[in-house]
Amino acid sequence: HTGGHALDTIVAVATAPVPAGVGIVRLSGPDARSIAETMCGRALTLRNATRVRVRDAQSQVLDDGIALAFAAPASFTGEDVVELQLHGSPVVLDSVVDAACTLGARRALPGEFSERAFLHGKLDLTQAEAIADLIEARDAQTARAARRSLDGVFSKRIDDVADEILRIRVQMEASIDFVDEPIDTDDIARIEQRLSALATSLESTLVEARQGQKLRDGLHATLVGAPNVGKSSLLNALAGVDRAIVTEVAGTTRDVLKETVRVGGIELTLVDTAGLRATDDAIEAEGMRRARAALGVADLVIAVVDAQDPVLGRARLQDELPPARSVIWVVNKGDLARSDVTDALVVSARTGEGLADLRDAIVEHAQRTMGEGAFTARARHVDALTRATQLLRNAIAECGAGQIDLCADDLRRCHDTLGEITGRVTADDLLGAVFSTFCIGK
Ligand code: GDP
Ligand code: ZN
Repeated sequence: HTGGHALDTIVAVATAPVPAGVGIVRLSGPDARSIAETMCGRALTLRNATRVRVRDAQSQVLDDGIALAFAAPASFTGEDVVELQLHGSPVVLDSVVDAACTLGARRALPGEFSERAFLHGKLDLTQAEAIADLIEARDAQTARAARRSLDGVFSKRIDDVADEILRIRVQMEASIDFVDEPIDTDDIARIEQRLSALATSLESTLVEARQGQKLRDGLHATLVGAPNVGKSSLLNALAGVDRAIVTEVAGTTRDVLKETVRVGGIELTLVDTAGLRATDDAIEAEGMRRARAALGVADLVIAVVDAQDPVLGRARLQDELPPARSVIWVVNKGDLARSDVTDALVVSARTGEGLADLRDAIVEHAQRTMGEGAFTARARHVDALTRATQLLRNAIAECGAGQIDLCADDLRRCHDTLGEITGRVTADDLLGAVFSTFCIGK
C-alpha cells in the first residue's frame, strides 16, 4: 500500500496548543523508538507506561512524564509509535519536538498521522475523515455519528455494494471475453435484478449520507417574511444576543442576509424578504436575488407574519415559498393582537411569549430531518454517491437493452467512483485535499 518506499519519522504535538494539565508529543516512523529512547536516556518497554525524564541533545532536562511505545504494525499509524505524555506547556512541548528533530525526526504535516494510518491500511478514507469530524463535533449527536463512521458503518455500506458490483462485473466481462459462452437472456434478467437491488441500497445510503452531511455542516433554517413583521427582532430573541439590525422603517434591512446564529446547535440564517416586492431599486433587487438564493438552500423555512394582519400576510408569503420545503408558520407581535390562525405558533419577540415553543419546534424539526444520523458524511461523499447512483442507473438501462459492453463499462466507472469514497481508488491530489484540512498532530 505504501508504494514500497520507506517513510521517514514524523513528530508533532498531538494536543491543543494551549496551556493544559497534560500535553502529548507523538512520534511515528522507523526511528520513533530510537529517537525517544535517546531523549529519555533509557529503553522503553512496549505498551508499558514508563516514567521518563526527557532531555535535548545537550542533555538538558526539558520535562518529565510518561512514555508509551508501540511497535509496528500494532499502532494507530501502523508504524513504530511513541507518545510522550508531558506537562501541557506549549513552550515545553515545542522544545521536545525541536529536540526530536535534531535527532532525525521531521515535523508532521497536518493530518499526516491519519494519512499514514490510511496508507498502512489501518483506516479507510471515510474513517480517517471521521476522526476529524469526531474531533470537531459540536454536539453529542454529531459525535455519535462520527463514531459510527469511524467504526466503519459508512465504509461497510459502500464496500458491500462495491463488492457485489465487482462480482457482477467479473461475470459480465467473462462473457464478453469468451464469445463461446455468450450471456443469455436469463442471465441478463438475473443481473438486472441484482443491479436494481444495488441501486435501491445505494439510494438509501445517499439519503443517509445527505443527512450525515447536514449533521456535520449544520442545518440551515431561514427566517422569511414581509418587511417589519419582526424577523430581525425574532432572530435576536432566539439567539439571545443582538446580532441583526432592527429598524422601524419597512424595507431597510438589506445587509443582514449573511447573519447567522446558532439555536440549539442549529444554524439560523436571517433572510429579509423586503426585496421580494417588485422594485426599481438596484440594491433592493440584489437583496431580492440573495433572498431567493437563501430560500433555495434552506432546510427549514420559518415564515413570519404580523399578528395584526396574519391571514393576508400568510397568503402573500405562501406564494414566495419554494414548494416541498418544510415550513414553520410563526405569527409575531402576539402582544399587539389576538389571532386565531391555525397551524401557527403565536409568539412575541417583544415579550418573549411563545419563543420556547418556537425553539423546540426548530430543534424537533432538525432532529427529524437529520434522522438518527447513522454516520457523518461530507460533500465529497454525497457527490461521489450521486455520480455512482447515476452510473448504476445507466448500467441497468443498458443491461435491459442488451448493451452488455456499455453496461460493463458503466459498472467499472461506478465501482471506481465508490472506491473514491473509501479510498480504495485514490488519486494523490484527493489524498492531499482530504488530509491537508486536518489539524497538525492528528
Ligand atoms: P423585520 O423588518 O421583519 O426584520 O422587523 P424588525 O425586527 O426590524 O422589527 C420591525 C418593528 O417591529 C420594530 O419596531 C420592532 O421593535 C417591532 N417588533 C418586532 N417584534 C415585535 C413584537 O413581538 N411585538 C411588538 N409590539 N413589536 C415588535
Ligand atoms: Zn429585519
